[in-house]
Amino acid sequence: MRYVSTRGAAPVLGFADVLLAGLARDGGLYVPETVPTLSHDDIRDLRGRPYAEVATRVMLPFLGGEIAEDDFAGLVADAYEGFGHRAVTPLRQLDSDLWLLELFHGPTLAFKDVALQLLGRLFDHVLTKRGERVTIVGATSGDTGAAAIEACRDRASIDIVILHPKGRVSEVQRRQMTTVLSPNVHNVAIEGTFDDCQDLVKAMFNDAAFRDEMRLSAVNSINWARIMAQAAYYVYAAVQLGAPEREVAFAVPTGNFGNVYAGYLARQMGLPIAGFAIGTNENDILARFFGADDMSVRPVKPTLSPSMDIQVSSNFERLLFDLYDRDGRATAEAMTAFRETGRLGVGENRWRAAADLIKSTGIDDVGTLEVIAAEQAETGELLDPHSAIGVAAAREHRIAGVPTVALATAHPAKFPDAVQRACGIRPELPKRLADLLQREERATPLPNDLAAVQAFVRGAARAG
Ligand SMILES: *Cc1c(COP(=O)(O)O)cnc(C)c1O
Repeated sequence: MRYVSTRGAAPVLGFADVLLAGLARDGGLYVPETVPTLSHDDIRDLRGRPYAEVATRVMLPFLGGEIAEDDFAGLVADAYEGFGHRAVTPLRQLDSDLWLLELFHGPTLAFKDVALQLLGRLFDHVLTKRGERVTIVGATSGDTGAAAIEACRDRASIDIVILHPKGRVSEVQRRQMTTVLSPNVHNVAIEGTFDDCQDLVKAMFNDAAFRDEMRLSAVNSINWARIMAQAAYYVYAAVQLGAPEREVAFAVPTGNFGNVYAGYLARQMGLPIAGFAIGTNENDILARFFGADDMSVRPVKPTLSPSMDIQVSSNFERLLFDLYDRDGRATAEAMTAFRETGRLGVGENRWRAAADLIKSTGIDDVGTLEVIAAEQAETGELLDPHSAIGVAAAREHRIAGVPTVALATAHPAKFPDAVQRACGIRPELPKRLADLLQREERATPLPNDLAAVQAFVRGAARAG
């Protein structure tokens, strides 16, 4: 199994190198040279098996033998053991032809745990084998930091330093990070904004000497292993609803296009998926593209679904690569033009191919609150704002005779204020997190100053 860059000018790598590299050296994203397939017999044989076993079988071909099958099965089982539901990603029926796939039973109550719980273990496994270590650094406005910390905590080959803007993160989100007291976890509260935190992280990566000395790394959403791990729950859900004999459709709330791309990958592998419906908030560049061939960048607006407040969706480039018949040079040219003009035109035929498969719905905050209230009233289900946008897309783009699965990406208790505003009910944290507000916290306050942050990272990291 070899991986190529979507821009065609980076070295071809195997799985372990792609895992550790993240972004390709030419600025592109890694994709498999050829996508492995599951036959109908393979898919049928997954019925009734536990999540970890389905996930192992779906992912194994992507490793190209670089991790032993038993080792990998052990990592996968371990990654999902701590989830708060035995089914890991349970399906719940909302309507005669509509199901919710709950992806929020991981440690931080959002779907990023599904990929990151495995990613942390994969990093550790590969690094230990190589006798290497890394220092993961990242900035968070609150949403993603906790999932990265939970993924890396207690991993012998990893130190993780996460910067958050002091006093500008909600209490629950801060505590999900700062109450992890593992010795390899370092929370830094920066006297500044989220943008300051991001600039500090960028500056550390741009300082080549520091980057190499600390072996800086990231676990961001373009990492191929995250996509691969997400393809598994599409297969898991579809076989429960009758695949491969029966087609299934998926509705996905989207920001960076990672989650829906994972579904697209599952379809390429042979899963009978009739189509996708994506949902966006007011940051609707993807809804405008699939709905009207208008991919033009506008300023980012803060919304009630902050994990989707994104204008340039990094994983879209992987779809673009396929639309350009896997021509790296053409993809690179399209991306350069997009960066320079703020607008991406792919031509009528390519757009139609994409729009036939992927329908879109964009709703604003008022619409999101209405969906939460309506679904609560009709089905009794409490949806977080992200999941509500997915359900709105599912309901708009039903395909007759095909069951639709809407992906629920966050637990409602992760966004209690919005849910309460919508329907008057304040969702409660699951029992295992009920004492979050009483737990001991640890974070280091630092000024918005690169030298101070670098000195801290040096002290924290064991890599140097
Ligand atoms: C990250 C995130 C999304 C968007 O997922 P992408 O893979 O970026 O499209 C949606 N909902 C929640 C709760 C998230 O954390």
